[in-house]
Amino acid sequence: MLLSQLGDEARPLAGGQSLIPLMKLRLASPAHLIDLNFVPGTSYIKGEADTLRFGAMTRHAEIENSELARKVPLLHDCAAGIADVQVRNRGTIGGSVAEADPSGDWAVALATLDCEVGCIGNNGERTVPLGDFITDAYTTVLEPGELVKEIKVKVPAKGSGGAYLAYKRAAPVYASASAAVHLTMDKDVCKDVAIALGCVGLTAIRAKEAEAALRGRAVTEKSVATAMEAARSAADPQADMRGSAEYKRTLVAALVKRAIDVAVRRARGEQVEVGPIYA
Ligand SMILES: Cc1cc2nc3c(=O)[nH]c(=O)nc-3n(C[C@H](O)[C@H](O)[C@H](O)COP(=O)(O)OP(=O)(O)OC[C@H]3O[C@@H](n4cnc5c(N)ncnc54)[C@H](O)[C@@H]3O)c2cc1C
Repeated sequence: MLLSQLGDEARPLAGGQSLIPLMKLRLASPAHLIDLNFVPGTSYIKGEADTLRFGAMTRHAEIENSELARKVPLLHDCAAGIADVQVRNRGTIGGSVAEADPSGDWAVALATLDCEVGCIGNNGERTVPLGDFITDAYTTVLEPGELVKEIKVKVPAKGSGGAYLAYKRAAPVYASASAAVHLTMDKDVCKDVAIALGCVGLTAIRAKEAEAALRGRAVTEKSVATAMEAARSAADPQADMRGSAEYKRTLVAALVKRAIDVAVRRARGEQVEVGPIYA
């Protein structure tokens, strides 16, 4: 593969929505760019049995406008809320996952689903669960010369619902905090749940104690308040221009509350449209 032949000095180029800004700032200066836009068959959304498959070069806008992707409404929430239309028209799901930006939206939304990353390199193909794929900020298990080929998402069972919510200062900036919730309901009881927090740690954080506050229990004001408090404790934010650490903890807990509400309503079959919440 060309990428391996050219070695460390080469970088694959997808939509350029992270790489080009980094190059403009001289934070990345690859000697060679390998333009994946010329590789056929890398942009697709396919539904097979209970799995959705997204080719690495599938643009955020294509997912936003896909009826197939709407089978998992949280995917639509995420795709439609990324930056502005220009970024969504160029940026790709594969590039986002490979970039592993701690403020990126995809890794957070996908962390609440049964999701795998298909990789391809000189040694052939392999599949890595998303939870093992991103190991740190801007760090993945991709080997030199290896590419993301596709993202696979299992369509959740009936009776489940999810939501992804981001809080932003404006459209074309990354979120100040975000939360994804995916749960399965049995009448008023939450049978299973996954909760992930974004922009409040080096990677997406699975809020396990917040999940435990809901799993096997009725979704009540009290259990939601316990989940919020647990999410607040799980967050590990840094103060920056988007706000203090305390502000982000409060924000992420509030997002978890709202996302639980939408997820429960969707699990019950209600059509609920959500989008980013602006400051
Ligand atoms: C103004 C602005 C606002 C933005 N706001 C948001 C936001 O709110 N939320 C959000 O999530 N994102 C945001 N983004 C980023 C955007 O979502 C990008 O799509 C995303 O970062 C990935 O970029 P890309 O797909 O264009 O990949 P590129 O920029 O082309 O590549 C990104 C990195 O991944 C590598 N790469 C690309 N494809 C592959 C592959 N298939 N296999 C292996 N490595 C690969 C590249 O070498 C590079 O290191 C924003 C970007 C801009 C410019």
